[in-house]
Amino acid sequence: MSAAAKIIRTLYPRQSDEHQRLAALHRYDALDAPTSEEFTFLTELAAKVCDVPYAFITLVDAERAVVTSCAGLALGPMPRSQCYCSLAMRGDAATEICDLSKDARTEAMPLTREAPFMRMYSSVPLSSSDGFTIGTLSVMDSKPGRLSTSQRDMLRKLARQVMALFELRANDKALKASVDELETLATTDELTGLHNRRSLLNRLRFEVARTRRFRTPLSAVMVDVDRFKNINDEFGHQLGDDVLAAIGRLVRENVRVIDVAGRYGGEELCILLPNTPLEGARKFAETLRSRIEAQVHSAGARAVTVTASLGVGSFNHMDIDDADMLLKQADAALYRAKANGRNRIEG
Ligand code: GH3
Ligand code: MG
Ligand code: MG
Repeated sequence: MSAAAKIIRTLYPRQSDEHQRLAALHRYDALDAPTSEEFTFLTELAAKVCDVPYAFITLVDAERAVVTSCAGLALGPMPRSQCYCSLAMRGDAATEICDLSKDARTEAMPLTREAPFMRMYSSVPLSSSDGFTIGTLSVMDSKPGRLSTSQRDMLRKLARQVMALFELRANDKALKASVDELETLATTDELTGLHNRRSLLNRLRFEVARTRRFRTPLSAVMVDVDRFKNINDEFGHQLGDDVLAAIGRLVRENVRVIDVAGRYGGEELCILLPNTPLEGARKFAETLRSRIEAQVHSAGARAVTVTASLGVGSFNHMDIDDADMLLKQADAALYRAKANGRNRIEG
């Protein structure tokens, strides 16, 4: 450990609430986020108001200090002990050093000894909403000096703006995450993990419009588990649910990202295959049929297998009419598959 690092470690030991401070810092999720114009604006304003060439927003992590926005000089992450900020991480008082080369704590630090030979440092802490210092807004100069009372006051106000911006971004992110989560909840069938019926029908309208516009084929495969009532009756409703969940998983593993698989109702699923003509859809359906048949479900010590019947419907852009027709076609084919003995595909 360098002499300077030792001094910093001795004079500024980590506070006992360091882990809470880090938790507060990480809540903002800003350490590795790219800087934005708003932060750059505040940093440049800090330099201008304080009449110095350099200003920085620095976040202090467990071992490193990360400059997330800078004016006058770009700085990469640096060890915490080599950063002036480590002196400013306690309390809410501003820290000011008039000549860094004459202060035992900072004289050996790289920014003091190497270009641009920093001499003046003044900073205010950035405080999280729960009262932890997560970093600093600092200004520096390669000439010794000090800030006036009004400049220091301005720097403090700008630090509050920096924090308001961090808060805003974190809230935006949280809001977006919960909107995404709600959307997933609203469009997903809980048991199978597939689209629910409403979402499936929405996507069907969308895919039909796309098929018309881009003149591509669109197919639909309707899947209905055979004699499923018997499964419930013989092994119980819970096993019936487990079987549906397993088939849902199997379907998800077997579709492409552009396909839309949904639970049409009860033990009936529907898979939309964009950009797929009838022949491709039939192949897909046959593969799925054989994989459903091969799946083994366990009811206690007993192994249970099920089969399904599948109906394929297909349009090409020339004769596409409406979404209902595609489903009717697949449904009629499914009916034939049932009538012709089940565990087969038609269409
Ligand atoms: P088929 O080969 O003609 O399709 O026979 P089936 O017994 O599958 O058809 P039917 O329509 O007579 O019965 C469907 C059964 O599926 C009855 C219903 O209780 C069951 N079912 C529907 N949804 C669920 C569910 O979410 N969980 C369970 N366990 N069973 C369900
Ligand atoms: Mg059935
Ligand atoms: Mg059914």
